[in-house]
Amino acid sequence: MQIGRWDVQVVSGGTFALDGGAMFGTVPKTVWSKIYPPDEENRIPMGTNCLLIRGEVGGRRHVILVETGNGDKEDPDWRNRFALGPPGALDAALARHGVRTEEITLCILTHLHFDHAGGSTRLGPEGRPVPAFPNARHLVQRRDLEDGRRPHLRVRASYLARNWEPLEAAGLLETVEGPSEVLPGIRLWPAPGHIAGLQGLTVEDGGRKLLFPSDLVPTARHIQPAWCMGYDLDVVTCVNERLKFLAEVADRDAVCVFYHDPHIPAGTVHSGDRGRYLVRPLEI
Ligand SMILES: [Zn+2]
Repeated sequence: MQIGRWDVQVVSGGTFALDGGAMFGTVPKTVWSKIYPPDEENRIPMGTNCLLIRGEVGGRRHVILVETGNGDKEDPDWRNRFALGPPGALDAALARHGVRTEEITLCILTHLHFDHAGGSTRLGPEGRPVPAFPNARHLVQRRDLEDGRRPHLRVRASYLARNWEPLEAAGLLETVEGPSEVLPGIRLWPAPGHIAGLQGLTVEDGGRKLLFPSDLVPTARHIQPAWCMGYDLDVVTCVNERLKFLAEVADRDAVCVFYHDPHIPAGTVHSGDRGRYLVRPLEI
């Protein structure tokens, strides 16, 4: 879809699966299992709906990727544990839009958890991880990089240094602090709760608006303010941030992209009965 000067598309970084109970926290299984029937290991399907944003500013072309999926580096045990789909998904999705990995100029990471930043590096010819987008600056919140370098025990399994250290070594990793406008109409905003250093993204230009809340609202089903994930570190902050997000998008002409939704990558948000919200799916 076109948002002013920016051409925006969802590009899938591939599918995987996570424990349904962990994804829905205190929501009873009798409720979430009707929405996402779990497999024999209680896992539910997950997408990685990355964004490809292209446009020109002052005669300079920008090809921006938001998130990079799980990537293809991990061993078969890992791939089985998370039921990763076939490798090469993100490269193939970019190729369908005529984009080669070398053409990406900017990569925005909402945080460094492996399911968001894993595709930022790939195994090089020597079997060591190297930047997957060698000409892209990579942006992450400073707080998240600090937390990733010295992760708390509770989230240690999600931060794998091989997903960002090769970027640092190549001088491709930059940090931002708090809200930031990275290009005209492309804004980053802190969205704490899931983790302290999470950031969301807004593209707003020419009277249109798209928001990418990342793990603040991981699927369209998590649009109910209190439906938090078991993974969320600070649930109260998460609910409060979600209420702020809903105040900005509900019953307005704003498109929301749900990074982990396997069926509804994007939609508009509408208020329903008894304080509940609905998502109307949208093709973008
Ligand atoms: Zn995630």
